[in-house]
Amino acid sequence: MTELNETQKMVLSTVKEIAQKEIRPRAAGLDEKQEFPWETVKIFADNGLLTPLLPEKYGGIGAEYLLFSMLLEEISKVCASSALILIAQADGMLPILFDGSEEIKKSVLPGLAKGKLAAFAATEPGAGSDILSMRTHAARRGDHYVINGQKCFITNGGVADVISLYAYTDPDKRANGISVFAVEKGSQGLINGKNENKMGMRGSMNSELFLEDLVVPEKNRIGEEGHGMANLMATLDTSRLFAASQAVGLAQGAIDEAVRYAKQRVQFGQTLSLIQGVQFMIADMVAATEAARLLTYQAARCLDKNHQRLIRKYCAMAKFMASDTAMKVTTDAVQVMGGYGYMKDYPVERMMRDAKLIQIYTGTNQIMRLVTGREIFRE
Ligand SMILES: Cc1cc2nc3c(=O)[nH]c(=O)nc-3n(C[C@H](O)[C@H](O)[C@H](O)COP(=O)(O)OP(=O)(O)OC[C@H]3O[C@@H](n4cnc5c(N)ncnc54)[C@H](O)[C@@H]3O)c2cc1C
Repeated sequence: MTELNETQKMVLSTVKEIAQKEIRPRAAGLDEKQEFPWETVKIFADNGLLTPLLPEKYGGIGAEYLLFSMLLEEISKVCASSALILIAQADGMLPILFDGSEEIKKSVLPGLAKGKLAAFAATEPGAGSDILSMRTHAARRGDHYVINGQKCFITNGGVADVISLYAYTDPDKRANGISVFAVEKGSQGLINGKNENKMGMRGSMNSELFLEDLVVPEKNRIGEEGHGMANLMATLDTSRLFAASQAVGLAQGAIDEAVRYAKQRVQFGQTLSLIQGVQFMIADMVAATEAARLLTYQAARCLDKNHQRLIRKYCAMAKFMASDTAMKVTTDAVQVMGGYGYMKDYPVERMMRDAKLIQIYTGTNQIMRLVTGREIFRE
C-alpha cells in the first residue's frame, strides 16, 4: 500500500468494498449456473472498473499496471471468474491501444469503458502453445480483408463487441506474416460456435469462433501488416501479469477462508488453529503467497517503468510462480477444512477448480518456464 498515492489508495479501497459487498455474494451462483454475468459487467461499468488501464482521453482512469494488478487481486480473492472478465477486457483492448490508429482507438475504446466488451483471439484447435501453426488467413481485397479460419477457447468470445483477432496475411513469412484486426460484433462472416462447459472459472464465457469469409475493413487492421506477432507478444506479457495477479488473489482468498475456519473448528478439544500441524500448513501457504505477490508486483513495476529487457522474463516468472502457488494453496485450503472443504457449502472447492486454469491459459506454465529460460540465456 505504501507505494500508492492517495487517489490510487482510494480506488483500491472502493474496489475492496465492491468486491466484498457485490461480487462475493454472486460468486457461488455464477459458478453453479455457468451463465454469463451481465450484472457483474454492469457493476464494473457503473463503477468505472471495466477498463482501468485505459488512458483518460479514451474514457478510462489511466491506472498503472501495479494498481490494476492490485485491483485484480482484490476481486479474485472473492471471485476469480469476475476478475477474468476484466482480464479478457484488457487483453482485447490492449492490442488496439498499443498499435491501433487514432481513428480505430477513438471509435472502439471509449465504448469499452462504458459496458461494451472486448476479447483476444489467437488460439485455434491446432495452435495453442505453438501459435505459429495458426491457420486463420486474411486475404487483402482492395479496401478490406476477407478472413477465413477458426478460433477456440476465446474468453468473452461469444459476447464481445470487438475482438482483437490474429491471422496470417503472409503465412510464408511465419512470425513476420501475422497481422491483427479489430473485428466488430455483427461483422458479416463472424459466426459464434459453442460456449465451453468448464471445470472452473464458470462465471466467464469461453467460445468457439468461426470465420467464414469474414469481411474486415482495412481501417480495422491494427498496426502494420505483418507486425501482429510483436503485438501478440506484448499483449501476452501483460496478460501474464494479469493472470499472476488473479492467482495471488485466489490464493489469498483461500487462505482467508482456511484461517477463518481453523479458528472455529474444534477437534481433540481445541481449535485447529492451535494444532501445530495445521499451523505449519498455513504458514507455508501464507509465505508462498506473499513471495508470489512480491514477484507479481515486481513484474507490474517492470511494465510501469517500461523495462523492455525485463518485462518478458518477469511476467512469465510471476505467472508460473503465482499460479503454481495458487494451485497448491487452494488444494491445501481444502485439506485444512477437511470434508467441509470438499463441499460446495464453502468456496475453497471452487477456488481449487478455478486455480487450475491459471496454470494453463495465456501460455501454459511449461511454456512460461521455456520463455524464462530463453530470456535468462539471452541476457
Ligand atoms: C478457459 C480458457 C480460456 C482461454 N482464453 C483464451 C483467450 O481469451 N484467447 C486465446 O487466444 N486463447 C485462450 N485460451 C487458450 C490458452 O491460452 C491455451 O489453452 C494455452 O495456450 C495452451 O494451448 P493448448 O490448450 O492448445 O495446449 P497445448 O499447446 O496442446 O499443450 C498441451 C500440453 O503440452 C505442453 N507443451 C506444449 N508444448 C510444449 C513445449 N514446447 N514444451 C513443454 N511443454 C509443452 C503444454 O504445457 C501442455 O501441458 C484459453 C484457454 C482456456 C482453457
